[in-house]
Formats: sequence, structure tokens, C-alpha cells
Amino acid sequence: MTTHEPMQIEDLGLDSHIDRTHGSLVMAKRFRVCRTGKTPHVVTVEVSHSGAPQSERCDCRGFQYHGTCAHITAVIESGSLACYPNG
Ligand SMILES: [Zn+2]
Repeated sequence: MTTHEPMQIEDLGLDSHIDRTHGSLVMAKRFRVCRTGKTPHVVTVEVSHSGAPQSERCDCRGFQYHGTCAHITAVIESGSLACYPNG
């Protein structure tokens, strides 16, 4: 399972909400990631105000067990997180 199967990554856009603990605005980019023939999962990447990725999570079982998964890797490797103003 080391081969990189093609992943379809759909940008679901930027989501923002207020962190109830810190009272600060949290922004997150969401992606729907679907490996061919598999169930799509939603990867959520919290980003700072400058757009730098802070933390990633996924709704798949692999992430719950391992804290990371192929969906997150696919999003990162796709370069979809690159949203720097001068990038
Ligand atoms: Zn996943």
C-alpha cells in the first residue's frame, strides 16, 4: 500500500468560527477527499490568520486511530494548502 493512488480533492472553501475558549477567530480550510471507489472524507485544516496550516483532522477512522491518514497526506501533497499572499 505504498503506491500513491489518485485522490480526488475538492476544495470546500474556507470556514470560520469563534473559538469559545480563546474568543478568537479560527479559520479552517475544508477539503473533500475521495480515493477512487472509496467513501469520500472531509479533511479540515485550521489555518492561522496568515494562512499557515496549524492542525489537520479528518473524519475517517484511520485518523481517529492514528492521528493522521492518507486523506490529509493527499491534501498536503497536492499543495492545496498553499494560500500565502505571495505564494
Ligand atoms: Zn482520512
